[in-house]
Amino acid sequence: MHARIALCPGDGIGPEIVDEARRVLDAVAAAGGHDLTYGEHLIGGAAIDAAGTALPADTLAACAAADAVLLGAVGGPRWDDPQARVRPEQGLLALRQGLGLWANLRPVAPYPCLSEQSSLRPERLAGVDLLVIRELTGGLYFGTPKERTTGPDGRRAVDTLVYTEHEIRRVVALAFRVAAGRRGKVTSIDKANVLESSRLWRPVTVEVAADHPGIALDHMLVDAAAMRLITHPAQFDVIVTENMFGDILTDEAAVLAGSIGLLPSASLGDDRRGLYEPIHGSAPDLAGQGVANPVGTILSAAMLLRHSLGLDGEARAVERAVDQALRDGCRTRDLGGALSTAAMGAAIRERLAVDGGAASAATGSR
Ligand code: NAD
Repeated sequence: MHARIALCPGDGIGPEIVDEARRVLDAVAAAGGHDLTYGEHLIGGAAIDAAGTALPADTLAACAAADAVLLGAVGGPRWDDPQARVRPEQGLLALRQGLGLWANLRPVAPYPCLSEQSSLRPERLAGVDLLVIRELTGGLYFGTPKERTTGPDGRRAVDTLVYTEHEIRRVVALAFRVAAGRRGKVTSIDKANVLESSRLWRPVTVEVAADHPGIALDHMLVDAAAMRLITHPAQFDVIVTENMFGDILTDEAAVLAGSIGLLPSASLGDDRRGLYEPIHGSAPDLAGQGVANPVGTILSAAMLLRHSLGLDGEARAVERAVDQALRDGCRTRDLGGALSTAAMGAAIRERLAVDGGAASAATGSR
């Protein structure tokens, strides 16, 4: 198959980790006979420096024309002034919005061989394999300027939480479709005992469930869910929730994995095009040293193969290679080891077996 991938490395460690993920995609393409072409585009602080804006028009146009976008991270101390007119994260928000991406997927499946890294006891982590689907373009973070106000004396402020039935239905329906390829369970998280928007969320969720008789649905209040994620994380399969609850719960769930450098994400919309990025930031403390963990970005590339290119077998092969590398003791500094970013990437490519054949021809270890 042929696919065009827009690379947006961004700032800090972004270029280092995106480079390793691209090498993994190249290895997959070489082994499977796929033709992947890349264009590299500015976003975030790098774009502010070069073009005065965090998302130049040609970056958005190139991403919109691509089959998928692979992004590193944006931001850093150079652009950190909260009063600044243009800020790096505006680029990311504008890109998500410009591509119409309304769902964010974050899988969390801690590796048993890294259980000593987690702040939870190993027995709590046994069997944990969950996916949080967060609604990305509605709710409190997206009130119109009229709905977000600060009083003239600065002593009163208003944000507005708005959801339409359509916004709820499409993200919940996605959760059910994804659950069908997993353990067949959806937990919908809301605050239906207090919020009107949650009282709309629940019946819409029940209606969607009626179209998916093979999938189990349960509802959980967000405060209870925050506790259950720590006390009984293995009970969850697919979690679906609104924007702010998802923002908070995904960071909480990330703690289960042990290092922020391990976790991928996908942002999806109406069609197959998606934006894929690790959940961590630009780690300015590590930038330029070649020591960042590339696993979160490599697993984001696996999600890209699955969701945007329909290459589920290849995605699984990448995930297996990461798993094998970690089980073989390959560790970057955040995992207590000494491997460089490039050495970790090479270790994963060396273990990549697509369609039963090693992809070693394209590993290109340095
Ligand atoms: P961060 O995620 O960049 O770093 C937090 C800690 O995790 C640091 O100690 C860092 O060294 C470590 N870390 C992060 N990624 C790692 C990796 N791949 N391997 C090993 N260690 C890793 O968060 P922060 O320090 O709060 O933010 C730094 C900058 O990133 C800020 O400018 C922030 O605005 C930005 N940021 C961007 C995104 C994004 O682009 N999606 C997300 C969060 C933060």
